[in-house]
Amino acid sequence: MKDFERLRQECLSEIAALGIKTGTVREWVINTRARSRWGQCRLEPDGTYTIQIAESLLTDDRISEKACKETIIHELLHTCKGCMKHQGRWKANAVMMNCRYGYNIKRVTSGKEKGVENYKPERMTVKYVFTCGGCGATIYRKRDSKFTKYYRRYGCTRCGATDWRKKTVN
Ligand SMILES: [Zn+2]
Ligand SMILES: [Zn+2]
Repeated sequence: MKDFERLRQECLSEIAALGIKTGTVREWVINTRARSRWGQCRLEPDGTYTIQIAESLLTDDRISEKACKETIIHELLHTCKGCMKHQGRWKANAVMMNCRYGYNIKRVTSGKEKGVENYKPERMTVKYVFTCGGCGATIYRKRDSKFTKYYRRYGCTRCGATDWRKKTVN
């Protein structure tokens, strides 16, 4: 588990050290729900910002502190004036942070780039895992369906075998 307070403070001072002025963050939300994005920045009606950070960034030890800070900084840079889009000043500031500190802050970052291969942000919502006895292919299903019920009748699309191992996750 990473120390979110410390990382956030480090990000803020690194940004400030380059003379970049960030907006007021009203609330930081650690998002525990399975989501496909690492962070999100929302402009509130009063001109302040709410930033969401995926909980897995803090809890998943495969993700480095640097990768976690890249997301925090990515979102903080959205709070600068006129920086809600990934263009213009947002982009210029991101490039500046990357050059100065060796970050790799980009518009979109995949799971692999966070150091996690085959990252499945939705893994908690998966109900069944089917493994093909023929080739080892895996199929994930979030809910009951014809397939989850009658899987014995279905052939593997990769090898054609009808030899599924069913595992109920939750
Ligand atoms: Zn963004
Ligand atoms: Zn197969």
